[in-house]
Amino acid sequence: MPDCIIVGGGAIGLLTARQLFLEGVDVLLLEKGPLGGESSWAGGGIISPLYPWFYDDAVNVLAERSKAIYPELTKTLLDETGVDSELLDSGLFTVTENYQHIVEWAQKWSIKASYVADIDRIHVIEKAAGDTVDKGIWMPDIKQIRNPKFVQALKKSFEKQSIPYLENCAVEEIIANNNKVSAVRTGQQTFTADKVVIASGAWSAQFNVTRSSVDVIPVKGQMVMYKGEPGQVKRIILSGGHYVIPRKDGRILAGSTLEKIGFDKTVSSAAFDELHQAAVQLVPLIEDLPVERQWAGLRPGTEKGIPYICQHDDIEGLYIHAGHFRNGIVLGAASAELMIDIILGRQPWCDVRPYSMCAQH
Ligand SMILES: Cc1cc2nc3c(=O)[nH]c(=O)nc-3n(C[C@H](O)[C@H](O)[C@H](O)COP(=O)(O)OP(=O)(O)OC[C@H]3O[C@@H](n4cnc5c(N)ncnc54)[C@H](O)[C@@H]3O)c2cc1C
Repeated sequence: MPDCIIVGGGAIGLLTARQLFLEGVDVLLLEKGPLGGESSWAGGGIISPLYPWFYDDAVNVLAERSKAIYPELTKTLLDETGVDSELLDSGLFTVTENYQHIVEWAQKWSIKASYVADIDRIHVIEKAAGDTVDKGIWMPDIKQIRNPKFVQALKKSFEKQSIPYLENCAVEEIIANNNKVSAVRTGQQTFTADKVVIASGAWSAQFNVTRSSVDVIPVKGQMVMYKGEPGQVKRIILSGGHYVIPRKDGRILAGSTLEKIGFDKTVSSAAFDELHQAAVQLVPLIEDLPVERQWAGLRPGTEKGIPYICQHDDIEGLYIHAGHFRNGIVLGAASAELMIDIILGRQPWCDVRPYSMCAQH
């Protein structure tokens, strides 16, 4: 039997299980659908929180650590699996009038950021920018990852390294005896283990092991994808919560909505209109591009946007690694490192208190 069962095969579960396996732990990852088929596939892959200056330090600590990990991690995955996660130096231009506190915030975190209000300079940064992109913060070092390819690379790594996992295998119950985790029950069988990690994204509140709850709710985000040409648009541009992300092959994503309406992944024409209008304002050439697809994903939302990375308050051996909300990709690599430190009882690389259960309430 495995030492540790990971419940959920999104980016968070995949990174956690892979890292534990590389540390010599016998793992088993259980996923109710296909690996990486939910939020981790649906997201935008920006390797920065949007408006990071509004976030708690607890989020930025993880983001900064992850930014340093991704170049090496994506290269390792490429060498190992042949799948390119397309980590790109897109840079991020955020339309805003306020800049003083942002520049100070960026200095504190040693992040390159400059205020640009000169249209000619903006067009040097992104020639396709529209008239509404007239002033804002330019952060040239922000990267993006093509998240569907990233989860594909992680999946391939599981196959190459024979990391045990089961797809189409929903965990129905986490079993604890005398406040200690002992097993998980699926529709097919019961797996015993001393350690269980809940990494079930937006579904992480489903397990009622004790009265202490895991407060994660689904927050739907819709996206639209256009078929452009490579190099037509180069930068990520963000304004009023809407953004465009140009991919390496020319496709352009326009995102995203924030909808708290439960476990609903339907797409709507109202969301399409909202996203399309905003995208065309940011990058007018999008008006003439064919729309390829619209989709929705369910972000694992927490009240403060800070994830759970902790042992359960009441149950020994039960860990929670969930609630990364809008930032599961950017936080994921560092978050997995921290979760592994906690599970293996090592000195954690950063202060763990902000990610505990009691910090959420
Ligand atoms: C539109 C949109 C845009 C986004 N943009 C960005 C971005 O630019 N940058 C960024 O960093 N983040 C972004 N995000 C957020 C990011 O995608 C999420 O935070 C991240 O994917 C969460 O990963 P996860 O593994 O926790 O969840 P998921 O990827 O949802 O994985 C959870 C997995 O658990 C499985 N599961 C659930 N219940 C069970 C069960 N009972 N048994 C077994 N398996 C179970 C699910 O099937 C699922 O595969 C975006 C999200 C959306 C929707």
